[in-house]
Amino acid sequence: MKKTILVLGGAGYIGSNTAYLLNQRGYEIIIIDKLIYKQKFDHDFAKLIVGDFADTNLLESVFEKYKIDAVMHFAAFIEVGVSVTNPAEFYDNNVVKTIKFLDTMIKHGVKNFIFSSSCAVYGNPVKVPIDEAHPYAPISPYGKNKLIVEYVLQDYAQAYDLKYISLRYFNAAGADPKNNLGEQHIPETHIIPLLLRAIKNKKTFKIFGDDYNTPDGTCIRDYIHVKDLALAHLLAFEYLIKEKKSQVFNLGTGHGYSVKELITAAEKEAGQEANIEVFARRAGDVDTLIADNKKIKSILNWEPSYSNLENIIHSALEWENR
Ligand code: UDP
Repeated sequence: MKKTILVLGGAGYIGSNTAYLLNQRGYEIIIIDKLIYKQKFDHDFAKLIVGDFADTNLLESVFEKYKIDAVMHFAAFIEVGVSVTNPAEFYDNNVVKTIKFLDTMIKHGVKNFIFSSSCAVYGNPVKVPIDEAHPYAPISPYGKNKLIVEYVLQDYAQAYDLKYISLRYFNAAGADPKNNLGEQHIPETHIIPLLLRAIKNKKTFKIFGDDYNTPDGTCIRDYIHVKDLALAHLLAFEYLIKEKKSQVFNLGTGHGYSVKELITAAEKEAGQEANIEVFARRAGDVDTLIADNKKIKSILNWEPSYSNLENIIHSALEWENR
């Protein structure tokens, strides 16, 4: 019998790329997604149920109708700045609804859960690269949301025999234009789409601060291609089924690029210069975020194969020009 995976937020950027890969590898996929950012979902690799992932009536019917082997949860609000100005919305969606979902899931005997966490749980790094033992000190409501859910998962694992894997993403990037899968945030706040659009439309690209404590003064991030992220979810699922053990992993490449390095790579790929202007630092940004990914490499045998900068920018540009 094919195993069935329920993907919350599977119409979104990382969720859809993951659902696609899981289906390619022979798994049955059911997506619950509210389609808040999209009118429609033009893919046939999953069964889409349009709705809220904390709608208990909807969940009861899904868990009664299908035998779900695991749940992957991508349905979160992600904009750090909005989490500061509207924490209520973030705590409601990312924490309260997630707990409500877990309760219904466990009630129906589903015990495998893969959670999209974030390196935001670490806050300002005291040591780079960041390993999983790095102290937790989230500085935004968003980061706190992720950490709170991780604590809930720990306690539920103890009490209710839940098995979970928490993947602490670094900076998701890139696209899979051939399969019509890519980034589509409204509003877009992420550097790569904004930079590519600025070059294409001959608009100014804003660098948020060039006085950071890094070699060229701009922030360094660990950009990981969404297809490498998707692979980690597949491996996490297979590990849970086989090893039946909870784990927490950092999910990044272990290499960092500065904003200025991204600009150079994007200009090269687009064949055009960017108009850049340096603005003030963005609240909450830290100098450098780079993953120590030894743990996921050794336990899940995960290796990134799409995450070199050229490939990330190339695929993102193709997606922007679709
Ligand atoms: N950034 C920038 N200009 C932009 C958007 C982002 O200089 O228009 C910088 C931002 O300050 C950060 C990096 O690019 O240092 C990555 O930001 P993004 O929002 O893509 O991801 P984050 O690391 O905040 O999750």
